[in-house]
Formats: sequence, structure tokens, C-alpha cells
Amino acid sequence: MIEQTLSIVKPDAVRKHVIGEILRRFEANGLRITAAKMLHLSPEAAARFYVVHKDKGFFGSLTKFMSSGPILVSVLEGENAIAKNREIMGATDPAKAAAGTIRRDFGTDVEQNAVHGSDAPDTARWEISFFFGQLETHPG
Ligand code: GDP
Repeated sequence: MIEQTLSIVKPDAVRKHVIGEILRRFEANGLRITAAKMLHLSPEAAARFYVVHKDKGFFGSLTKFMSSGPILVSVLEGENAIAKNREIMGATDPAKAAAGTIRRDFGTDVEQNAVHGSDAPDTARWEISFFFGQLETHPG
């Protein structure tokens, strides 16, 4: 099934100058980039994006990190894009991520883990609409 998923190159990976390498891996694995832009979230916007984690102990630290510098948000499209992106990303904790994954190669710790990817179709739709309007996506 052709799906769309929301990807974020997080502030730590932007600071490491690996935006290009991360996007290259998506394209090399058959995911098309159908929308992309760079922006700098306010702490309030980061809190709205991660509202599902608002009761977690790391919520304050996570929103501070995600608003600590610019991010690159994109929409990836392709066959089973949601699962494929999460496979390319690797496990949440870079220390536990498989060899060759983005998080293993570029993540620092369980919080500063280089990339975000939607985890299901309904969250993907919500996350894409959080960042992109209809005129900003170019599916197909
Ligand atoms: P993901 O779907 O793999 O991104 O993982 P989650 O949805 O569980 O968590 C969202 C984000 O919160 C992760 O990508 C990390 O940046 C951060 N995070 C997750 N677990 C922890 C944790 O135990 N401690 C801290 N400080 N951050 C975490």
C-alpha cells in the first residue's frame, strides 16, 4: 500500500550537518520526498506536536531539545512508507538500534536520536497536517 509519513531531522542531526545524508538514505530506500521545509519550533509548538507524551517524565526535556534549533520536516511517500521509514530510522535508543540505521549512525542518546517518524496511519495524517498545508505537498 502506498502511504505517506512525516519525517523530522531533529536539531541534533541538523547541528551535525547530516541532513543530506539522511534524505539520501530515504531516497535510496525507495521513499519519495513529496514535501520539505526547515523551521525552528517554539517550545509551545514542540509541546503541541508531542502532546501524546505530555505526562511522561521526559516531556519538558524533549520539548526543550526539539525547540533548541532548526529542524527539517518532510513527507515521505512510498510502499509501506510508515514501517519502512521506521526501519531505516532504527530503534528509539541509538544504542539499541540496528547497525546501519540512522539513529545508530547519528543519534547521541535516547532523546537526541536524530530523526522522528510517524508510527501509524492516523498519526501520520495528523502530523503531516500539523506541518504542511495542501499547497505544500506534492504527492505522486
Ligand atoms: P519514537 O517513536 O521512536 O520517536 O519514540 P517515542 O514516541 O516513544 O518517543 C518520542 C521521542 O521522545 C523519542 O524519539 C525521543 O526523542 C524521546 N524519548 C523517548 N523515550 C525517552 C526517554 O526515555 N527519555 C528521554 N529523555 N527522551 C525520550
